[in-house]
Amino acid sequence: MSTAATAPVVDLAIVGGGMVGACLALALADTLKGTDRRLVLLEATPPDTGQSPSFDGRTSALSNGSRRILTTLGIWEAVVAQAAPISRIHISDRGRFGAARIGAAEQGLEAMGYVVPNRALGAALWARLRDHPSVELRAPCRVVGLVREKHCVNLALDDGTTLAARLVVAADGAQSAVREAAGVSATADDYGQVALITQVATGKPHAGVAYERFTTSGPIAVLPLPPVLGHQRVATVWTLAPAEAARVRALDDTAFLGELQQAFGWRLGRFSAPGERLAYPLALVQAASLVSERVAIIGNAAQGLHPIAGQGFNLGLRDAVTLAECVADGLAQPDGDPGSSAVLQRYADWRAADRRLLVRFTDGLVKLFGASLAPLRAARSLGLSLFDVLPPAKAALSTLSTGGGGELPRLARGLPLRGAALAPSAAAP
Ligand SMILES: Cc1cc2nc3c(=O)[nH]c(=O)nc-3n(C[C@H](O)[C@H](O)[C@H](O)COP(=O)(O)OP(=O)(O)OC[C@H]3O[C@@H](n4cnc5c(N)ncnc54)[C@H](O)[C@@H]3O)c2cc1C
Repeated sequence: MSTAATAPVVDLAIVGGGMVGACLALALADTLKGTDRRLVLLEATPPDTGQSPSFDGRTSALSNGSRRILTTLGIWEAVVAQAAPISRIHISDRGRFGAARIGAAEQGLEAMGYVVPNRALGAALWARLRDHPSVELRAPCRVVGLVREKHCVNLALDDGTTLAARLVVAADGAQSAVREAAGVSATADDYGQVALITQVATGKPHAGVAYERFTTSGPIAVLPLPPVLGHQRVATVWTLAPAEAARVRALDDTAFLGELQQAFGWRLGRFSAPGERLAYPLALVQAASLVSERVAIIGNAAQGLHPIAGQGFNLGLRDAVTLAECVADGLAQPDGDPGSSAVLQRYADWRAADRRLLVRFTDGLVKLFGASLAPLRAARSLGLSLFDVLPPAKAALSTLSTGGGGELPRLARGLPLRGAALAPSAAAP
């Protein structure tokens, strides 16, 4: 693939306008306003088609740190009416003694986090992006190839055209074609599990409690949702072996509710009125590197996590706002090159520790709670009880919820990006 000599070179091309890519575009939009810089967001499936693989029927548990970022981006106010605060987290092991409880009030927090429907996030993000003069949206538009030249990367698009950019951001999900075309390898460790998600009404009020219950068939997360027409509802994420997930997904509503009830118990009274059931095969995906020449990798393209601790988007959002800060600072340098090796190296170094910690934490939880060996189960039971009485363990979890640990990027501290005085673009045609 080659680009005609006259083809314009844009400063940034973000491939994938899902949860993380859309946030990155918005994070940079204000910085670029009124400059001659060009940012293009390319998305294969726009969110309002109902087909978006990112803004689908799932809900996301957002940390307080993510809420702060979304507030700074001007998104929180658009989704808050559809968000349910988590007042307490309750972790238990079906048929065992241990149970752990962590309350927001005891941690000095307003909430442990918030549960927001992905579709609400998509609608709010894309409405803001459509209004923003400094972001050029191309959707539907699929990137099908990538070739590097000396000062830019050429993207081949599915309409037969090409786009040249000084920095390409792979935000195209766990099966990232951009990551692969850029020559960055990734490992995918299949957990041999499927997450089956739905929403149900509950007989008793959920009081903002999020439950994580470990059963012999796999963990079930039950998350509070805002009431619908006066009915209390929760979102459920039930992790099962693939064949079992297929069987449970195909059950009629009565049989499905019966099995879910049996696995979860009666803490929330009788379950009823189940919503659509969706299934997600689970794997730990890790890119070998977060950057390669003129390419940065963020969100699930960088690391796809098991949803057991609800951290995938929270982590990806921190990728996005960290990269936004590195790019904005890079644009303000004399050469003003967003794809320079200095910008990319700063991003990769800054993200390394947070990423390593979250991958280890999430994968460790899956392995610990997937264990069926008796001694491990006993240790697990004891662990839950100790967790309940040991304040440091709880404090660590609430630190995770506030997005703490390491130097926080400006947007995560509620500050706008620097970059009011950007150097003029060397990329303009
Ligand atoms: C069951 C489940 C529950 C979860 N719960 C939580 C939770 O509670 N909290 C949390 O923090 N995380 C949660 N996660 C994780 C979270 O959903 C992901 O981390 C998040 O969706 C990643 O967003 P992304 O934008 O990186 O990737 P994706 O959501 O995969 O989006 C990628 C986007 O790129 C587009 N695209 C793909 N290829 C191309 C191409 N070639 N050209 C152009 N566009 C392209 C796609 O159409 C899509 O819009 C959960 C995940 C699962 C499976």
